[in-house]
Amino acid sequence: MGKRGKKMQAEVLAVLRRRRVPLSAYDVLGELREAYPKIAPPTIYRALSALTEHGCVHRLESLNAFIACQCGRHKHASILSICDGCGAVEETVAPDLLKELSSIAGKSGFAPTRHVIEIHGLCASCGSAQALGH
Ligand SMILES: [Zn+2]
Ligand SMILES: [Zn+2]
Repeated sequence: MGKRGKKMQAEVLAVLRRRRVPLSAYDVLGELREAYPKIAPPTIYRALSALTEHGCVHRLESLNAFIACQCGRHKHASILSICDGCGAVEETVAPDLLKELSSIAGKSGFAPTRHVIEIHGLCASCGSAQALGH
């Protein structure tokens, strides 16, 4: 990873931190096009996959989108609660639950390498808006 790659990772992470909602690689590309008119999708994909590997960014498989980590660096996979109303994502870390899941999967001889736990629903404010009939 060269110097430019590192710089691009920092830029991509800054975009994701600023927006706080899941962004696709193309959304990120769109955000950075102004500052980097020559930027190409593979550059964004490379930066996103490096950031995901480092745990600074999490990939939302169900949305094919990315979000900045909200918990700081952590070894454990996190649980990502995705609001289908406003798109907000809340991240929680539950190492015990993940240990449990690994051991359940491991009973059949399966060796888990990564977990992705995504919960879809409504956040507190969208849920109460719906209850009020809006
Ligand atoms: Zn995280
Ligand atoms: Zn919401």
